[in-house]
Amino acid sequence: MESERYERVLTAVNRGTPDRVPWALWGHFPATKFLEYYSWEKANRDGVESAKAHIALLNELDYKMDLLKVTPFYKYMACHWGSKFRFVNNEEEVETVDVVVKKTEDWSKLWVLDPKKELKENLRAVSILSRGVGKRMPFIYTVASPIVQALHHVSTPGRVYADMKENPDALKEGLKTITETCIDFSRTCIEEGATGIFFGIGGGGEIWSRMKQPQLEEYALYYDRMVLEALRDAPITLLHICSNTMENPQSHGGLMEEGWFKNYPVKAINWWNTSFTPLPVAKKIYGENFCIVAGLDQSKTMRYGTREQVEAEAKNAIQEAAKGGGFILSAGCTVYQDTPLSNFNAVARAAERYGIYRR
Ligand SMILES: [Zn+2]
Repeated sequence: MESERYERVLTAVNRGTPDRVPWALWGHFPATKFLEYYSWEKANRDGVESAKAHIALLNELDYKMDLLKVTPFYKYMACHWGSKFRFVNNEEEVETVDVVVKKTEDWSKLWVLDPKKELKENLRAVSILSRGVGKRMPFIYTVASPIVQALHHVSTPGRVYADMKENPDALKEGLKTITETCIDFSRTCIEEGATGIFFGIGGGGEIWSRMKQPQLEEYALYYDRMVLEALRDAPITLLHICSNTMENPQSHGGLMEEGWFKNYPVKAINWWNTSFTPLPVAKKIYGENFCIVAGLDQSKTMRYGTREQVEAEAKNAIQEAAKGGGFILSAGCTVYQDTPLSNFNAVARAAERYGIYRR
């Protein structure tokens, strides 16, 4: 059936029980060994390259992925404001050469990017995917939280934390411009055929350790909500709570298990469940509000594990969180570029073996 994957994913996203557990994995796809003819750098300035790389990934798999998360170079908006980055050898880690906001006064130099002008290549990827795979499967495009963009894409943690203390109004002016850009671009993606938006918060900038709850609410949540409220009618809004080995929103402040993320008007949440807040705990706290998207460790099992180990981790995740529906099997963040293709297939196989709700 043409719309089988839509039905499966959207049922799970709306916390229902589909025919089986859907699965999805994402990475910086042109920067992937098994897609060696695609360029991560080119994909950032050419929407055709980005779309082709994602379609090539789907074609490489032995199984049909249920949901495609499209991953552009995550600092794409900042490139148009004037930040400069250096791509080396198709490595997923990209070096920052220059940022546009160096001084406090620079926040006012940002302007709202036009989705059809500055961001047209990103939109072109959405448009191609919409016609290429969008009739058969849902796909979502990536947008980073305004505070994350401020910290890492358009400026630096040093500038942002200093302005938070001494020049909050200037920083807020910048955040507002970034927020409006996120809203305009996200809405245009939906109009162009994307099924939804993958919205990332955290991941560097030490936001979980350096910002206490009131600051997170003033500088992150306030703007994040503006973006997400504007996407209320999107079929999928997936909040990615990004973390690293040094910090996460549970070890710093306990926000994850206090249920703080219920403040986010989204349909689904994704986080690194093997690093903090295990699946059964999260399902209990968030299961009535959000679809749970997690289960696999991108830094260990997916990257270095055998197929059997990946399958075992997937099976365990399904047993812990799939009951009653509202669950999508995935990893806690982008999989590394050297993750073997066989481990993608192992996730799919586990979903088909252990994730059947009804035949
Ligand atoms: Zn992440």
